[in-house]
Amino acid sequence: MQHERNEQTAQAETLFRSFMKTEGLRCTSERIDVLQEIYGADSHLDADEIYNRLRKKGTGISRATVYHTLDLLFRLNLVTRIDLGHHHTHYEKTLGVANHLHIVCQKCGKVSEATSNQLAGMVEALCSENGFTLGSFSLQVFGECRDKEACAERARQNEAE
Ligand SMILES: [Zn+2]
Ligand SMILES: [Zn+2]
Repeated sequence: MQHERNEQTAQAETLFRSFMKTEGLRCTSERIDVLQEIYGADSHLDADEIYNRLRKKGTGISRATVYHTLDLLFRLNLVTRIDLGHHHTHYEKTLGVANHLHIVCQKCGKVSEATSNQLAGMVEALCSENGFTLGSFSLQVFGECRDKEACAERARQNEAE
């Protein structure tokens, strides 16, 4: 598992470096740090989380660099943008990750991920019908946890944070 993940990170890095070269942009170590942070994470991160994690690791990265790098990675289809209902964007790696649906609880913010080949096929067909080639997709569905007790407990913890 770990091995596989490193390969994806390496693959993403190669794509990113050649893209930057083509665009005439400098591929600084800070930009590579952002890529590695996303590819090393198992969950969805927002720009601030990425910024804070990198700062804790002792890098002098700026917020602007984090945002700009995320934009570049998005243009390259190496990350997707997700709206999890927090009024800001979350980012998720794309390489090695199947397109999926996020089911988000509106009360406690719990996120479940669901994959479906049928759904992926439908999205691809819809893109094609509209003259697009599918890159990546992330779909969000908002609902409420059925387990009310666990949901309320999570909501309380969120409040406390
Ligand atoms: Zn996801
Ligand atoms: Zn909930």
